[in-house]
Amino acid sequence: MKSDINWNFDNSYSKLPEAFKENIKPLFVKSPKLIILNKELGRKLNLNFSDINEKELSEIFVGNKLPTGSKSIAQAYAGHQFGHFVMLGDGRATLLGEHVTKNKEKYDIQLKGSGKTAFSRNGDGRAALGPMLREYVISEAMNSLKVPTTRGLAVAKTGEDVIREKALQGAILTRVASSHIRVGTFQYISARQNLKELKMLLDYTIDRHYPEIKNSKNKALDLLSRLIEKQCDLVVNWMRVGFIHGVMNTDNMTISGETIDYGPCAFMDVYDPKTVFSSIDKTGRYAYCNQPLITKWNLSRFAECLIPLIDENKDKAIEIATQKINSFDKLYEEKWMKMMRNKLGLSETDDNDKSLFIDLLSWMHINKADYTNTFCQLMKLGPTEIIYNDKEFINWKKRWLKRISINKISFEDSIKIMRNNNPLVIPRNHKIEEMLESAEQNDFRLIHKMLKILSTPYTEQENIIDYRLASSSKKKYKTFCGT
Ligand code: AMP
Ligand code: MG
Repeated sequence: MKSDINWNFDNSYSKLPEAFKENIKPLFVKSPKLIILNKELGRKLNLNFSDINEKELSEIFVGNKLPTGSKSIAQAYAGHQFGHFVMLGDGRATLLGEHVTKNKEKYDIQLKGSGKTAFSRNGDGRAALGPMLREYVISEAMNSLKVPTTRGLAVAKTGEDVIREKALQGAILTRVASSHIRVGTFQYISARQNLKELKMLLDYTIDRHYPEIKNSKNKALDLLSRLIEKQCDLVVNWMRVGFIHGVMNTDNMTISGETIDYGPCAFMDVYDPKTVFSSIDKTGRYAYCNQPLITKWNLSRFAECLIPLIDENKDKAIEIATQKINSFDKLYEEKWMKMMRNKLGLSETDDNDKSLFIDLLSWMHINKADYTNTFCQLMKLGPTEIIYNDKEFINWKKRWLKRISINKISFEDSIKIMRNNNPLVIPRNHKIEEMLESAEQNDFRLIHKMLKILSTPYTEQENIIDYRLASSSKKKYKTFCGT
C-alpha cells in the first residue's frame, strides 16, 4: 500500500532566510480522525486518495505523517489589527510546503491548528472543530460563488480537547492557498529594515504571483499596481455576494488576491450597509460598507513597505506611491458600477445607472429587504415575499426594465448575465450554526448536505427553500473570532 497521496513537494518559501520563518513540525496528536476530505479539490491537485486507507489519511491531515519532501515551517508576519501594528506569525499553523501539480501550478499546503510555534504568543496553537468546519464550508462556498479564496482540503479531529470558554473538540484544517504571503509579511520584513531581505521578498512574490512584471523597470511600483487591482476585484466580489470578512487586518490580506482567514465572517441577509457580525468589532471598522475603504487603507500600509524599493529618493517614492494609492477610488467606482450592471443585467453604460443602483439599495435598506433574494426576485427566481409587492419596488422595476430595453444585447442575454452574478443561495448564518451544532454531536449529514447545496449557488435546486431564507429570528447574529 502506498503511504503517500501523490504529493509533489517543493519548499521554495522555506529556502528564504531564517528571519522569514521558524523551521518546525506539526505537533503530534493523540487520535486523529478524518471528518471531511475534499475529493474534488484533491483531483484538481492531482492527489490520489484511492490507494490509502482512512487511518493513514487521518494521520496525514493532522500532520502526524508528513508528506515526502516536506520542509515544514511557521511563517513570520506582522499586521495592523484594528489599526494597531503587532508582530504576529503563524501561531497555530504549519506550512508543510508547496505542492506542485502536473500543470506546474504551485499551492501552499498549510495545517491550521497544528500546535504551538515561536509565534504563538499566549495562544495554545490549537483550533476547535467548529471554527475549522466553518472556515472549510464558507471558503468552499466562496469558491463556488466565484470569489477568489483559499480552500479547504480536509478537516480532521485531533482527539484532544482545546480549552476555550469550555472544553471543545480539537481539529485541524488543511488549507490550500496559492500562497500565504500577506501584506503583513511585507510589514514584518519591512520593520526589520533590511533592504536585502525586502528585495528577496519582492522578487519571491513576483516570481510566484506576478511573473509578468519580473523584468519591469520598477518592480515594486508594478507590484503595488497589481495588488491594487487584485484587491479591488476581490472587495467588489465580496460586495456582490454580500460577504463581510469581519477582520480585514493587514495580516489577513493576501498578495495573491485570495480571501483568507474565515474568522468572524458572515453573509449579510437584510441589506444594511452598516452590517457588522463580529463581536469584537465594536466600532464597525469592518462593516459591509467600510470594506472598500479598509482595502485602500491596507493597500496604503503595503505601499509604505515598498517605499525604499520604489525610488531611492524617499520623498519622490512617497509621492509616486501616494498617487498610485489614490487611483484606488476611481478604480473601485468603475469596478463596482460594472458589478452592479452585471447584477442587473445591464450592458453598455447610461448616465442614470448610478441613481438606479442607489435607489434600489436604498429601497432594500429602508424596507429591510434581503440582499440576495431581491436580485433573485428580479430574475423571477423567488423566493416570493410580500415585501416585493411594495409600490416603490414595482415603480423601480419599471425604471429598470426601461433601462434594460436600451441594452444592445437581447433580454435573454441580460438574464444570463444576471444568473452568472446573482447567487440563488448563500451560506445562511442560521444554517451554518445548525450544521455546526450537529457536527459537534458527531452528525455530519448536515455539513455534507450544505456543502452540496452551496457547490452550485447559481443553479436552481429543488427543495432548498429553507437554505434560501434568512432566519426569522429577530436576534442579531453575532460571530466570534475562531481562536
Ligand atoms: P487570526 O485572528 O486567526 O487571523 O489570528 C491572528 C494571529 O493570532 C495570528 O498570528 C495567529 O497565528 C494567532 N493565533 C490565533 N489563534 C491562536 C491560537 N489558538 N494559538 C496561537 N496563536 C493563535
Ligand atoms: Mg489571520
